[in-house]
Amino acid sequence: MGSLKIPYAQKDEKLVSVNEVESGLSCGCTCPACAAPLVARKGKQKVHHFAHHNAPECKYALETTLHLLAKEILATEKQIKLPAIRYKGVYLRPPQVIRFQDVYVERKLHDIIPDLYIMIKDKMLLIEIAVTHFVDDLKKLKIEEIGVSAVEIDLSEVSRDSVFEELKTTLTSSTLYKYWIHNTRIPELYEKHLKKEEAKQKAYDEEINRLNKVAVAERRKEREQKRQREKFYKDYYKKITVRKSERAFYGKVSTVDNCLLDKRDFHGVSYANVHADCFHCEHFRGFKKEKEFIVCLAPYNLEKTRHS
Ligand SMILES: [Zn+2]
Repeated sequence: MGSLKIPYAQKDEKLVSVNEVESGLSCGCTCPACAAPLVARKGKQKVHHFAHHNAPECKYALETTLHLLAKEILATEKQIKLPAIRYKGVYLRPPQVIRFQDVYVERKLHDIIPDLYIMIKDKMLLIEIAVTHFVDDLKKLKIEEIGVSAVEIDLSEVSRDSVFEELKTTLTSSTLYKYWIHNTRIPELYEKHLKKEEAKQKAYDEEINRLNKVAVAERRKEREQKRQREKFYKDYYKKITVRKSERAFYGKVSTVDNCLLDKRDFHGVSYANVHADCFHCEHFRGFKKEKEFIVCLAPYNLEKTRHS
């Protein structure tokens, strides 16, 4: 509110805009705060406003006028948009449009006088309208002690040319310029949030635990399979014999005797050359014990083929 000039005044128990009345003292308006007669100043240069007649402006005229205007708007619209609730950096509740029945203005509550209050179900919500006088620490403390929720609406930025429209938007459908002075639901909402987080953490821990168990079982199964395989292979070890050879590059050749595939023959004994034959053989399954043996599955595979 760039200026503290009064845009509305009381006339016949009603609040009227300066634009609705005659110019001058004949407007028949009084100050909502001190009840003194007001003059409607409707010049060409300045924004139209009311002024006290033959008296200095009273201190509370503007604030009181805006409280009454806000009351009128809320009483007509029967709704208010409340800002989000945050606590300890946690977003506890999104902004909400609340419907209600009645709105009360400046009634004493313990030892404070809230600007306005509404009843939401059986709960009281104080509405503090601030233009120049914001809720101080003492009032905040008292509100907390009484244990009621209170929201402050900062109207210091509202344009004086369209007070009514801006106030209506601010009250009913905007969260701009609104702040929680105190909210009685915070402990309950925060507790809920903590429980939810705890449950989330618990579910996460349980899932990690489950996955770990699965992994352990998988590893155990793999180890067991490997053990079984090794046990099975033991029956199919074939001793490697290193023989002298004039044809081999190093003068030595690795062989296994009694090859079932009859790869080679040495004076009537069947044998196989490990590098030349076994490496390319479908029955070869690798070396064992520092290459003292190979695993040859030929007896097993050939037996199986015979039976199928
Ligand atoms: Zn006054």
